[in-house]
Amino acid sequence: MSGGTLSRDTIIPFIADIFRRRGAESYLGEAVTMSEHMLQGAFFATRDGASDELVAAALLHDIGHYTNEFGEDYIEQGIDNLHDEAGARVLEGFFPQVVVACVRLHVAAKRYLCTTDPTYFDKLSPASVATLKLQGGPMSRIEVAEFQKNTFHQEAVRVRLWDEAGKVPGMKTPPFDYYAPLLQRVVDRHMAGKGVRASH
Ligand code: FE
Repeated sequence: MSGGTLSRDTIIPFIADIFRRRGAESYLGEAVTMSEHMLQGAFFATRDGASDELVAAALLHDIGHYTNEFGEDYIEQGIDNLHDEAGARVLEGFFPQVVVACVRLHVAAKRYLCTTDPTYFDKLSPASVATLKLQGGPMSRIEVAEFQKNTFHQEAVRVRLWDEAGKVPGMKTPPFDYYAPLLQRVVDRHMAGKGVRASH
């Protein structure tokens, strides 16, 4: 199955399969794997009483690292390492705007927090400090004002803090399958709102 043939009924099994096959890959120099990182993000979101949508965003925020799984429709040569935008693009056919926005903005939210929250920089892991430079460094005042115009910028900041928290070596969380019904609910609610029927 490739991204071009995905439907409301197959998107979550498709993502589950990516987690299963590729979740053990390393996460950019962090001491956790990709799936540990994303599952820990979802765990902290749940612990903080987040909505289904924000738990979904925390769980899927780095899905853009896997966009080659979704087929060539979703990647243009050379841009697939811009994982924030790539992730948003693979999700936007199925997930509501708040989820897509949080994924799209999760790197910008890091740059935003570096400027606006004096305690935030110290929470960054060494690997995240290293990528900050490549991502443009802390936001300027003008960029901060632009960022705040995004409807879901506060949600994106929350997801970013769960992203930062989800780097605990060896921490156990529920597996992906625990969150699959939540993800399906989020997709179903969104697609029902758009008039797309489920076949299940
Ligand atoms: Fe992350």
